Amino acid sequence: MRYIIVGGVAGGASTAARLRRLDEHAEIVLFEKGSYISYANCGMPYYIGDVITDRNKLFVQTAASFKDRFNIDARVLHEVTAIFPDQKLVQVKNLQSGETYELSYDKLVLSPGAEPIRPPLQGIDSEGIFTLRNVPDTDRIKSYVSQFPNGKAVIIGAGFIGLEMAENLHNLGMHVTIIEMGPQILAPVDFPIAAIAQQHIRSKGVDLRLKTAVTGFERNENGLKVLVKDSMPIDADMVILSIGVKPDTRLAVAAGLELGSARGILVNEYLQTSNEAIYAVGDAIEFMNPITHNSMPTYLAGPANKQGRICANNMVLGNKQTYNGSINTAIVKIFDLTVAVAGVASKHLTAAKIAHLVSTTHSGSHAGYYPGSEQMTIQINFAPADGKLLGAQIIGTDGVDKRIDTLSSVIQRGSTIEELMEFEHAYAPPYSSAKDPVNMAGFVADNILQKRLNVIPWSAVSNISKEDILVDVRAPLEFIEGNIPGAINIPVDELRDRLSELDQNKNIFIYCQIGLRGYLAQRILLQNGFKSVQNISGGYKLWSACNIESNLIESSLVV
Ligand code: FAD
Repeated sequence: MRYIIVGGVAGGASTAARLRRLDEHAEIVLFEKGSYISYANCGMPYYIGDVITDRNKLFVQTAASFKDRFNIDARVLHEVTAIFPDQKLVQVKNLQSGETYELSYDKLVLSPGAEPIRPPLQGIDSEGIFTLRNVPDTDRIKSYVSQFPNGKAVIIGAGFIGLEMAENLHNLGMHVTIIEMGPQILAPVDFPIAAIAQQHIRSKGVDLRLKTAVTGFERNENGLKVLVKDSMPIDADMVILSIGVKPDTRLAVAAGLELGSARGILVNEYLQTSNEAIYAVGDAIEFMNPITHNSMPTYLAGPANKQGRICANNMVLGNKQTYNGSINTAIVKIFDLTVAVAGVASKHLTAAKIAHLVSTTHSGSHAGYYPGSEQMTIQINFAPADGKLLGAQIIGTDGVDKRIDTLSSVIQRGSTIEELMEFEHAYAPPYSSAKDPVNMAGFVADNILQKRLNVIPWSAVSNISKEDILVDVRAPLEFIEGNIPGAINIPVDELRDRLSELDQNKNIFIYCQIGLRGYLAQRILLQNGFKSVQNISGGYKLWSACNIESNLIESSLVV
């Protein structure tokens, strides 16, 4: 039995190692067109930023160690140039010698990954414009950066890799500009979470320009100019293009394998392509999203590695183990903040016409009385019919990772917000509170679901009319330091005594700083005869971040 694997990094290397563990006697040949196999592409931005100082640490395995440990014939600098499915052959080019040869397979695995998108813009091939996908890219960028210790870097695209590069280049002393065509950073999260992150990025002195389209590049003796629509060109010593990736399907298409609607390699639940002897994993495939039921690629290392294991199991043991799809659980460090996401954002649920409710809570990472507690913001999206959890997003500093993993697990199992309320966590003051932020998210969501708490999103504040009453229930000092225009201030602790100041026949809108006092105020009013009482979800904290950010975009004050 001969297994051939195309691509030797996350999905490919993981498949190969699992194959060997299951079948000691098979011949396993892994082709990698680059110079390295099984390297940590996720670590590359941090190596460029000198956080990881030892380049060797990026390499999990080498071709030699793969041979010694797993008896796998890993051939680097060997590109598979064609597949002949009828003859079960691959054509391979040795990139060092130029020799081309063919090799037969019993089963073939494709894990060629995704390729960075490079739009055909004027001057895009100029010196100093980089994409980051592999080790040679990393070496090129690192060497270039060292020539411009205090230089200007322009990052195009504010996704995960773009933001990681922005932080790392900034920390090296470069002046960083981020250009993003969309109205917010980080497309997988909703605007309120992005808005908090955007403010943090700006606070670091990074020039963040949203809704800005790059139209081309010019190079002269002074460096690069990044040309942007309706604005002055931006000077740069270097440019990182991180505007997204697309599945590398060139081999698959040439071999006549079917692609899906999202232009990834189509696989069944056993990760088998339209040809039964060929399996495929990783960034190159598309698979049905378990929540939206839309077929889509997933560009994440975890799913690629796990698919590799499943695919190897199915090839050796027969098609028994199914892949259930990815809910795109992801996390990114943005300077001092962490943003994490699992499941589907509200805007994408809306686009997929999936009814949902949204709850936003701000909770301490651990007990407030124990030093170092930091607030995190959790947004969850859930089904109005049964409370099924559909998506979660968190921004904060400490403890974001463990909360998102808990929420991800609930989403993956198709479970509900009830489980969040019951979730039993390990508690001592340095680690959490008696009610964990995950519990709090569940309690508030349940109040919304049971209609004990009526909320409106920050964006609906602009619809509050002069006839309505907007009440800030925070302390007077908090009110003076900043409030929503048009609000009156009645602190929650005085509300019972000042009910007569409010007209019961009017719509009342309430907010506090983070939502808790607003909820208490709403309960007081509803139980005192007020009929229409709404709480502004996420409180003043969320409203002000969103308001500032959306005004910056709309008035083009972003400089
Ligand atoms: P890859 O790991 O990209 O491997 C594909 C390999 O196939 C490549 O080495 C390529 O050279 C080779 N190949 C392609 N065609 C051929 C051919 N014809 N013949 C031979 N070889 C071929 N994901 C996360 O979850 N968390 C992170 O923090 C994270 N950070 C990232 C940071 C960076 C800078 C990058 C680039 C990616 C990051 N990712 C992260 C994404 C993650 O690395 C990918 O999702 C994952 O590596 C996909 O695995 P894969 O096997 O499909 O493709």
